[in-house]
Amino acid sequence: MNGTLDVVVIGGGQAGLAAGYHLRRAELDFVVLDAGAAPGGAWRHAWDSLHLFSPAAYSSLPGRIMPPQQGEPFPEARHVVEYLTDYEQRYELPVVRPVRVRGVHDAGELLRVEADSGTWHARAVISATGTWSRPFVPAVPGRDTFRGRRLHTVEYRGPQDFAGQRVIVVGGGNSGAQIAADLAYDTDLTWATLRDPRYLPDDIDGRALFDAATARRRALDAGRPDTGGIAALGDIVAVPPVREARDSGLLKATPMFERLTPTGVAWPDGMTADADAVIWCTGFRPALTHLTPLGLRTAEGRIPTQGTRSLADPRVHLLGYGDWTGPASATLVGVGRTAREAVRAIAELL
Ligand SMILES: Cc1cc2nc3c(=O)[nH]c(=O)nc-3n(C[C@H](O)[C@H](O)[C@H](O)COP(=O)(O)OP(=O)(O)OC[C@H]3O[C@@H](n4cnc5c(N)ncnc54)[C@H](O)[C@@H]3O)c2cc1C
Repeated sequence: MNGTLDVVVIGGGQAGLAAGYHLRRAELDFVVLDAGAAPGGAWRHAWDSLHLFSPAAYSSLPGRIMPPQQGEPFPEARHVVEYLTDYEQRYELPVVRPVRVRGVHDAGELLRVEADSGTWHARAVISATGTWSRPFVPAVPGRDTFRGRRLHTVEYRGPQDFAGQRVIVVGGGNSGAQIAADLAYDTDLTWATLRDPRYLPDDIDGRALFDAATARRRALDAGRPDTGGIAALGDIVAVPPVREARDSGLLKATPMFERLTPTGVAWPDGMTADADAVIWCTGFRPALTHLTPLGLRTAEGRIPTQGTRSLADPRVHLLGYGDWTGPASATLVGVGRTAREAVRAIAELL
């Protein structure tokens, strides 16, 4: 068992590190517990050709600008891993890994954090476990009858695994567009999307995305009409590989199919397509099962928050899961501000 801390941060990806940066500045005692084997959070597991949807300068955590990646206006995932590794060392953040937190329990004045390799007690907890470990696949009829390869974004490595095959990519967001672009040259590709792909203007940058997310949060907080945030601008950032495939006419979307069959997919009008593989680029859910013992969820399964703070237990903050915990809180550029506000609230509470 370890001594009592002010704060335990659960998760050592970008959100956990941004929290660590502000906790250090606030001179609080803390530790970051991370299940990963090495620094980088989800970026360590991304497919080889994943590009950030914003330039390096607009993808920075507090205190340190991400350096540009030579020859890549939109850096690759491995560049982000290098940046996060350096960030962690530069600020001497007390990250302990690999440590997987199993449950956070109410222990009177304190919170008890139980992990696979120890127990910690703290006055507050910041949960920053991301979404990568909870891939979401919609319940499309026949989904489990398909006999070909079935995988989610998290399992995709690169086009080399699918050369010459008939592949169906599902999803009209950034992951779907980037993976479809990756596969457009060497496979027989079907890209199925719920609606026509909506590309953001080619010259949009990360700052514009962050500003749109901030304007939305402010409007909602002030009771004004929803501006729609980034979603009002479009769904897909046309990073160079996506733009190239699109402009070559190789990135054509088809409407979403109605069901899967043992050999492929079928549309409502009777059309079918055989496939060797279906890749679900259909998003994620927050990884929050470690908070279950605290009973913070409503009957609908949500954890109500004001900003990052749990309404049911103000000692618990949620960081980086989506706009519901702060404007653009699940992005590199946005999480710093949200982390600062979370730490400020915790410092006041303690
Ligand atoms: C395909 C894709 C592309 C994206 N592109 C961009 C982009 O271009 N620009 C941008 O700003 N954002 C982008 N994002 C969004 C966001 O920046 C990333 O999802 C980012 O990884 C989120 O960081 P995080 O720290 O919240 O979570 P993660 O990076 O997932 O880190 C969470 C950490 O917590 C650990 N963990 C999980 N559960 C536990 C537990 N129980 N106990 C201890 N540790 C635990 C994990 O091992 C991991 O190390 C993208 C997201 C995806 C999925």
